[in-house]
Amino acid sequence: MATQDVYERPLQDLRISVTDRCNFRCVYCMPKEIFGSDYPFLARRELLSFEEITRLTRVFAEQGVRKLRITGGEPLVRKDLPELIEMLANIDGIDDITLTTNATLLPQHAQSLVDAGLNRVTVSLDAIDDDVFKAINDVNYPVQPVLDGIAAASEVGLNPVKVNMVVKRGMNEGQIVPMAEHFRNTPHILRYIEFMDVGNSNGWRLDDVITAAQIRDAIDAEWPIEPLDPNYTGEVASRYRYADGGGEIGIISSVSEPFCSTCTRARLASQGQLFTCLFAGKGHDLRTPLRDPSVDDAQLAAIIRDIWGNRRDRYSEMRTNNTAPIEATPLQWKVEMSHVGG
Ligand code: SAM
Ligand code: SF4
Ligand code: SF4
Repeated sequence: MATQDVYERPLQDLRISVTDRCNFRCVYCMPKEIFGSDYPFLARRELLSFEEITRLTRVFAEQGVRKLRITGGEPLVRKDLPELIEMLANIDGIDDITLTTNATLLPQHAQSLVDAGLNRVTVSLDAIDDDVFKAINDVNYPVQPVLDGIAAASEVGLNPVKVNMVVKRGMNEGQIVPMAEHFRNTPHILRYIEFMDVGNSNGWRLDDVITAAQIRDAIDAEWPIEPLDPNYTGEVASRYRYADGGGEIGIISSVSEPFCSTCTRARLASQGQLFTCLFAGKGHDLRTPLRDPSVDDAQLAAIIRDIWGNRRDRYSEMRTNNTAPIEATPLQWKVEMSHVGG
């Protein structure tokens, strides 16, 4: 049976960040003013090696983890990523491996990722208009190569491709309907994500959040949508289908309708810290025991059981309901999104 936390939430999913670097500077995630040329990114030796990630994942699988999501930074900037996918796909108990990517490097890697055992891919794309997209990624990157990346993933069988769009007031709310229009009647599933107060550098304000209800209404006004049942308990996206048969969309309402009660996700940062919540202020260092030759797998398992067994995180519920006492207050230092990868 899977290891459970204080609120009986099982440890089932592991998000693995393989790098803190990225070729984009999305304004809401890695703003240039902070992540500039002098930013102290991690040195190679500080990152967990593929062997270290695999060993840890095997221990996590023994504790109940079934699903892996590879993320970053931009995971495809980590050299030889398909090798890691292959190592992870061979672990007993792991039945689903997905990748979250900005898709810039997907065309050249899609086939080898699938051959290595990748099951699914999520592509982040926040606008279908070139000017809006360039202003968001802040490196003047156009939309078409991202669409090429989605097509490449689709061609090698990673269907349906999920496309994530973070919606932020003043940034891209005008793109809600054009994005829907673009991805309607395709096999891909567009998922709208409320802008979240992750990290400390993106200047989050509640006023910047376009809520799930507002997103739903904007689409419904153009093409009526109807709710669908979740695929499984704890699915983070609310699912809808176009009444005219144009396919499916999802809306992830982490701010307006939080889902902490079913949160089964652990996050491993690229230098080996374990975070039990996206909004955690502090990670648990697993790299030190991992690199200590006197620590065996059983001891690593005990460390992980202890961390998860004491987990009480429900940050989004507390932020949204504003129920005190708050164990992780919105004012304290929080890990950056580019560090734990969403
Ligand atoms: N670079 C990859 C990408 O963009 O897909 C993977 C890492 S990125 C941090 C993972 C996801 O987090 C992206 O879909 C991104 O849009 C989302 N994200 C980053 N900051 C966010 C925020 N403040 N609120 C909501 N989503 C955010
Ligand atoms: Fe990079 Fe992804 Fe963050 Fe954009 S959202 S800066 S692509 S890590
Ligand atoms: Fe999970 Fe933390 Fe998000 Fe709640 S706020 S759903 S506990 S990651």
